[in-house]
Amino acid sequence: MSDTIFGKIANGEVAADLIYEDDEVVAFRDLNPQAPVHVLVIPRKPIPTLNDAGPEDAELLGRLMLAAAKVAQQEGIAEQGYRTLINCNAGGGQTVYHLHVHLIGGRPLQWPPG
Ligand code: 5GP
Repeated sequence: MSDTIFGKIANGEVAADLIYEDDEVVAFRDLNPQAPVHVLVIPRKPIPTLNDAGPEDAELLGRLMLAAAKVAQQEGIAEQGYRTLINCNAGGGQTVYHLHVHLIGGRPLQWPPG
C-alpha cells in the first residue's frame, strides 16, 4: 500500500516535515520548495494520479482541498493568496505517483505557470 515515497511518508516509514495530519490526509513541506511556502497535501490512500480517483473518492478529494486551505491559514498566506495545483502524469509534470496537491505561496505567483 506504500510503494512510493509519499506512501512511506504517510505511514511514517520515511520522515518528512509534517505540518498537518488527520485520519485521511497528511501535509508536509516539499523537499525542493518553489516558494517560501510549498506544502504537499496527500491522501493516506495511495491513489496514483487524479485520473485514478473514482466517485468513491469524491469526499476525500474535498478533504484534500479543505486541508490545503487550513494549512494556508496556518502558514499565514490565506489572505495574501496562494495556489493549489495537481500535476497529472508526465505531461502535467507529475514525478511522484501518489496523488498530491501542491500548496504554493508566500511570493507573487505568475500566470500562466510554465
Ligand atoms: P510532482 O512533480 O509529482 O507534482 O511533485 C512531486 C514533488 O515532491 C516535487 O515538488 C518534489 O520536490 C517533492 N518531493 C519528491 N520527493 C520528496 C521527498 O522525499 N520528500 C518531500 N518532502 N518532497 C519530495
